Amino acid sequence: MAGEPQDDCLFCKIVAGHIPATIVRETETTVAFQDINPQAPTHVLVIPRVHYGDIASLAVAEPAVAADLLHEAGEVAVQEKLESYRVVFNTGSGAGQTVWHAHAHVLGGRGLQWPPG
Ligand code: 5GP
Ligand code: ZN
Repeated sequence: MAGEPQDDCLFCKIVAGHIPATIVRETETTVAFQDINPQAPTHVLVIPRVHYGDIASLAVAEPAVAADLLHEAGEVAVQEKLESYRVVFNTGSGAGQTVWHAHAHVLGGRGLQWPPG
């Protein structure tokens, strides 16, 4: 069923506590944890507890949870004391998506170029 945990999904395993992660924030609907391969001094992933393959699918099926994800991205920035930061949703392999469970990257703590390339 849509949103159900997937046995072969890395981020569902992190939500379930079956794979360790350095969790920085949790809510009823989201989990935020350090990226294992940080691209900036702060690089936190914010994911929904429910499983959807990307942010667009999540926003269509469960818009309130997509809003929670955005809210939590802002809360991570406050918690990490980021004045400037970037929230990224890589969507599709051509855009660099490698994990097929919706997630926001929150990046900050260094200068960020725009456009990113
Ligand atoms: P994507 O490329 O799909 O936008 O982002 C996936 C992110 O997940 C990457 O930045 C990658 O470093 C991170 N990642 C992949 N495997 C793990 C893991 O096992 N633990 C954590 N904390 N992050 C992971
Ligand atoms: Zn998943």
